[in-house]
Amino acid sequence: MEVWTHHRWRFPLPPHHRFPIEKYGLLADRLVADGVAAPDELREAPPVEWEELAAVHDSGLLSRIRDGCLTMREQRGLGLPWSPELVERGRRSVGGTLAAARSARERGVAMNLGGGTHHAGRDFARGYCLFNDVAVALAALRREGLAERVLVLDCDVHQGDGTADICAGDPRTFTLSLHGARNYPFTRVASDLDVDIASGTGDQRYLRALREALDFALPRSRPDYAFYLAGADPFEGDRLGRLALSKTGLRARDELALDRLTEAGAAVCVVLAGGYAEDINDTVDINAATAAAVAERARAS
Ligand SMILES: [Zn+2]
Repeated sequence: MEVWTHHRWRFPLPPHHRFPIEKYGLLADRLVADGVAAPDELREAPPVEWEELAAVHDSGLLSRIRDGCLTMREQRGLGLPWSPELVERGRRSVGGTLAAARSARERGVAMNLGGGTHHAGRDFARGYCLFNDVAVALAALRREGLAERVLVLDCDVHQGDGTADICAGDPRTFTLSLHGARNYPFTRVASDLDVDIASGTGDQRYLRALREALDFALPRSRPDYAFYLAGADPFEGDRLGRLALSKTGLRARDELALDRLTEAGAAVCVVLAGGYAEDINDTVDINAATAAAVAERARAS
């Protein structure tokens, strides 16, 4: 399966920073080793154009990001030190989602090995999220006539505040976020449906909550297109999440999400979102299982 990656575009981080920059390269290698993607199916994500970003983000915010002029408060909220390399990588992360989003229209499903930066809103960039890749891709698909009614299914352990902020006034987009009730962000922007999951919740209760949420959201949104944020951070070994899903449970979650969305008639673009396991190989295992589930469902070109 063709996938998009931007792992070669790194940026400087202080020692012991929690951002798992190594996972992206490890994941690309793993997909090739597992036979999920051939080496020539790893596509380098192109940088998204600034005009595409301007379709959803505030121009003042974009100028401050481009020129390295974020305020101290913004810099703290972002949690990543500004550098030109960070901006380049951020643009490529969005470019990968945009490319995967167009591919999903052709093949039914497609995946970016990155993106899911859902804490970036119209005029804020926070929680490791510089730009909102899903919102930018969604706006581009709409302009190109490739998506009409859209469901954003956000299964990262953190609530999708930025996506909710950008999509708030759009009646054709339904935002659904399932997240740890006591996880970041502590100041939220309401989605169309927010499902707070209690700390310590394991596989069975989580899967039931997801099924119920989809039972509610699918008939109301009737999507022809969906974005699925397959966060690895509901994992029991995650340092930032408070849920307790196993790897098997996360694989079942992916299959449930992909099957329900495709059965509803939606093309599905899958993005990684977060994952901060103590052992980075656990995060890579979870992301690789998601990619394998996507590959099984992708139509051959
Ligand atoms: Zn997260």
